[in-house]
Formats: sequence, structure tokens, C-alpha cells
Amino acid sequence: MKKIKVIYTGGTIGMIKSDEGVYVPFSVDNLLSFVPEANQLGIELIIDSFAEPLDSAFVGPSEWNEIASRIFEDYNEFDGFVILHGTDTMAYTSSALSFMLKGIDKPVILTGSQIPICEEGTDGIGNFINSIKIAKEGLVNEVAIWFDKTLFRGANVSKIDTADFDGFASLNHPVLATLGNELKYNKDVVFLDKKELVFKKCKEVSIKVLDLSPGVSIDAEAEQIRNHSYAGIILKTFGTGTTRMQEGDALFEVISNQNIPVIAVSECLKGGVEIGKYEAGSVLGKLEVISGEKMTKEAALTKLIIGCSNFEGSELLDFLEENQVGEF
Ligand code: ASP
Repeated sequence: MKKIKVIYTGGTIGMIKSDEGVYVPFSVDNLLSFVPEANQLGIELIIDSFAEPLDSAFVGPSEWNEIASRIFEDYNEFDGFVILHGTDTMAYTSSALSFMLKGIDKPVILTGSQIPICEEGTDGIGNFINSIKIAKEGLVNEVAIWFDKTLFRGANVSKIDTADFDGFASLNHPVLATLGNELKYNKDVVFLDKKELVFKKCKEVSIKVLDLSPGVSIDAEAEQIRNHSYAGIILKTFGTGTTRMQEGDALFEVISNQNIPVIAVSECLKGGVEIGKYEAGSVLGKLEVISGEKMTKEAALTKLIIGCSNFEGSELLDFLEENQVGEF
């Protein structure tokens, strides 16, 4: 009998309305009582819960380490892993785990829901059961998110809707599987060649997400970067990589003086960065900014955090510039 470990981290899927009328996490024992079907799937399910389930707003590097360690420690004992997670930052966690567990050869499926599993009309039961089935089948041996009717690669996905059941999308990359009458895997996309699992931990490194939307003060942003030792910068650009930063302005000066990696991502959800296409973005070439190409912001940010946690100098640049887990 196959053995699946379910790691419950929190999120709407396991929440209930408190007396004050706000959603708070409830105990994992209650969670399983709402999905009796889970016991009829012909698998051994082991539930492993965070001591204090969290709203995913509070999930970050230390929780990513916690989840990855719980997978890594019991890696040989289980056939697959299902992570129950809040939807708000699930795409950050799936991206982070993709980099941290590169080379993994077992399914790690993250899922959650828009409506708590204890409420009528919930999407939580379907999401939970389908994730377990996918983990049991073992055809997708990488980190992925299952949501509604789609299986997304962990480092290619974003939350795009706060309410609809199909709340996630992978607008720049093909998906791993879709559910119609039956589950159909996209065999051209699923990774087949596996290398060794190399577990990378991550640290609480300080990253600046630099958003130069119209009206944001270039000088104020420059001063903040000058006065803080950031490990790296994610630069949100317009369209294909244009920015308000210009050669010789305060931001250009401070970034050229600080020897830290900068990755440019587009604020558009579809398409990507092409450095040098417009004059208005040519400054990025001069600063040797790394093109995020089609990467999601979630993938770029977590790649930078995990890169800065594990490498330095040219090794760090190689890690950031090379495709690691299908993120480009
Ligand atoms: N605030 C919740 C969370 O991300 C939302 C959800 O799970 O859908 O934990």
C-alpha cells in the first residue's frame, strides 16, 4: 500500500469562523473528519501538522525550511507528499520548495481552497482528494500546485483570483495536467530525467522588491537601498522591461556601487522581460541586471532568496542566470 504524508500548514482549507466573525485555523483532526473519502483511496495517509497552523500571510523562509525538512527527513519512507497551505502565498512556497528540493523524484503537491473544508460548497474536498490521487499515481515527480482542475509546475504559477475556484494560473508556461472527464497529464512537459535530490536550506536574507510605479520617488528608493544592506533586488519593470530609472540618477548610482544581484521581472503576468528592446530600459543592460525573462515574481524572489542563502560571487550569478527547475 502506498504511503502519503500530508503536511498541514494552515490556510482557508482548515479554517473556521471565530466568534468574532474572522477566519482562524482549526485542528487537523477536525479537518480529516470532513473528508471521509480520503480513507477509501487505498493508501496509508499520515498527517503531520504544524504545531500552530498559519494563515499563509505568515509563511516565509523559516516555514519553507520546516516543510522541506519534513519532506527530506522522511523521504525514503513515503511515496509522495501533499502540503495543505493557504492560497495567498502558496505560489511563493511552491516556488521556494522547487528550488530547495531540486532533483526530487517524488510528488510534492501543494493545495488549499477558497472556501473552508467545513463549509457548504467547499472546493477543499475536491482539491484535497485530487492532490492525494496525483501523489499516489506518482507520474509527476516534482513540486506542483493542484487547484480546481489543474496541476501547475511549482515555479510557474501565480494566484490570480481571490474568490473563484480556478484561482491559480500559469500564464507563461504549459501546465502539467488538467482534469476533464479524467485527469490528463501533459507528458511533453513533465520532467523525466531526474538527478540527485540536493536539499538547499534558505535563510532570512533581506531582499528589496523595487517597484518604480509612476509617482514613486526615485531618490527615496535610492536612499533606502543606500542605507540598508540588501542581499539582492527584484526590480519590477513595466511591459518588456522598461523602467523610470535612468543612467546617472540616484538609483543608478547606488545600484552600480553595490555589488548585489538584481533580477528584472515584468509587472505583466504574461510575456516577459527583453532587456534592450526599448531605450527606456537600456539602463538595465548597463547595470548588468539579470533578465527574469518569463519568470513569475514569486519564482524570481524565491530563487534570489535561495540563491543568496547558498552561494556567493560567480556561483550565485550562475545559479541565478541558469534555468534550475523550469522557471524561465
Ligand atoms: N488568507 C488565507 C491564507 O492564505 C487565504 C486562503 O487560504 O485562501 O492562508
